Amino acid sequence: MMNHQVLAQLLLHLDGRSYKAYQEIRGRYQFPDFELSVDHVQGDPFAAPSRLRVLLPQTVAAFPAQTYQTRSREIALRDYLTRQFGQAAASLCESRDSDNRGSGHSGLIAIAPTGQQVLERTAVFVTSEQVEARFVVGLPARGRQILGRAAATLLCDDLPQIVEQALKYISLDATDLQRHIEMVEDADWLRQQLPAKGLVAFIPNGAVLPRHSGISDQPLAIAFDGSAKPHPEILTELQTEPSPVVAIPFQSPATLQIEFNRPNQGSIKGMGIPTGITLIVGGGYHGKSTLLRAIALGIYNHIPGDGREQVVSHPTATKIRAEDGRSVTGVDISPFISHLPQGRSTKHFSTENASGSTSQASNVMEALEAGATVLLIDEDTSATNFMIRDRRMQALIAKAQEPITPLIDKIQQIYQDCGVSTVLVMGGSGDYFDVAHTIIAMTDYRPQAVTAQAKAIAAQYATARIPEGGTQFGTLTPRVPVALSLSSQGATAKLKVRAVNELILGTEIVDLAAIDQLVEAGQVRAIGAAIAYLERHYLNGITPLSAILTHIESDIATAGIDILTPYPQGDLVRFRALDLAAAFNRLRSLSVKKPETFSNVKPTSTRC
Ligand code: ADP
Ligand code: MG
Repeated sequence: MMNHQVLAQLLLHLDGRSYKAYQEIRGRYQFPDFELSVDHVQGDPFAAPSRLRVLLPQTVAAFPAQTYQTRSREIALRDYLTRQFGQAAASLCESRDSDNRGSGHSGLIAIAPTGQQVLERTAVFVTSEQVEARFVVGLPARGRQILGRAAATLLCDDLPQIVEQALKYISLDATDLQRHIEMVEDADWLRQQLPAKGLVAFIPNGAVLPRHSGISDQPLAIAFDGSAKPHPEILTELQTEPSPVVAIPFQSPATLQIEFNRPNQGSIKGMGIPTGITLIVGGGYHGKSTLLRAIALGIYNHIPGDGREQVVSHPTATKIRAEDGRSVTGVDISPFISHLPQGRSTKHFSTENASGSTSQASNVMEALEAGATVLLIDEDTSATNFMIRDRRMQALIAKAQEPITPLIDKIQQIYQDCGVSTVLVMGGSGDYFDVAHTIIAMTDYRPQAVTAQAKAIAAQYATARIPEGGTQFGTLTPRVPVALSLSSQGATAKLKVRAVNELILGTEIVDLAAIDQLVEAGQVRAIGAAIAYLERHYLNGITPLSAILTHIESDIATAGIDILTPYPQGDLVRFRALDLAAAFNRLRSLSVKKPETFSNVKPTSTRC
């Protein structure tokens, strides 16, 4: 390994030469405190920046074992260090006059971007031996000429400074770090308690659920005194608009309140949402969707100050929505849809252009196939004819003329036969009063337990609906995926992630906009890599999708996310098997075998 002074000299020596000469700096360099590994050098200043790693021994980084000794703490610490590195790099880049740095990405130092969620990313790793940070650097150039002096400053002065500030325990605010770690550990602990308490989600008192805006995931401001009424000072401070926008903190109704004693931060009280069927009702604009959204993101932990730090939900909770236009491949949607016009099969339903109801039915069936045990459904994003069919419509349009069995006739069976709970936002129809176990009314952003009242109303005003769901939910038919057309595009199809809602695999653009529990582009990148990995290792025309997902989960659990890519990358983020399945199911090149043509696998349709 070469010395860091060799690197500095080499860079000065490269000054003025053509950009390609930067390739010479690939390799490893020993700095006083750390090792720098230059893994990939960009081809020109406008190309994707170069990939580098810093390896800092624990003898120097000096993180106490307690900061990473459990899995929760390790992920929290890695998340924290990624944020520290990102901030240090950003403020350093800002403080420089960027014009002097040259063209393209010249002068950039950046690590994976972070949002409100604490996630397992490949940007930073911590072990008892070392801290590793993976980041990108835009090697400086003017036009296509190497700016060697600027490069030497960047790598030999700036970078050590960032490492000093962001990756050494002694430089960090120990209290702030400890809070981050304990908050995450407590949230993981709370999530683990849910099944034993018969809950699917927990929302603590005082939580701030609304976000700053439709395009920002930051919390909506809260009155300083924590009261529901906006503080007078806030009114003037926040905005001059007539109606102040201030968050009303969450407060559980007494009957749904539960208390936990967390390992780090002790007692916490809040609303527990029980297993079974929970209906969230209330007037428009009273906070129903905001509550459901917080539950949907309760599969993740959040950073301190987010407002949703201790909002937790079952790890398999899955948002289900209508998604007309999506492609569906070989899904058995017969529990919900039968006798389509033109005699189309619904036991093996495929379409390039699903309708609102068939897409929502497919989304439910695919979620069950992928292991969801909690479904989250919002009327705002549902197909009305999938949700309800009232007495009058039953009288006018005979069952024989209506392919859809609405969710209202299946929701109890999903729970009884499949053991899958549903949390449903529905302000528009009281028909669901009959089938819900728990009914919560949102009034002025405050939840109230109204189960008894709603049940009394249901008894008083019978809907006179004729149940159409039969006696059982129906069958969950496994699917066996066969080769994707991606394989025809070379060993590994080119992967591009434009945003969190779009994945490009080779020539195929996969629309992920409806999978709104994906929060970071790195998850989408990792999912893309996982699809390529899945194709290489498990797409054998024999293994059912659900088993493939289990294999991938366990491969990642043993070998880490790095197993998905040919070389270590710093821009991958852990995803759920459920969300991988969701992306996979949206591939338009997907083909699956019909159950009848299974060769080695018994065509077991599990009755739910
Ligand atoms: P609904 O689904 O009942 O129609 P939403 O959940 O969409 O209502 O919320 C309507 C508006 O109220 C949104 O702008 C949201 O950010 C805001 N909001 C939601 N919860 C709160 C709260 N606890 N405090 C303040 N504003 C809130
Ligand atoms: Mg709504």
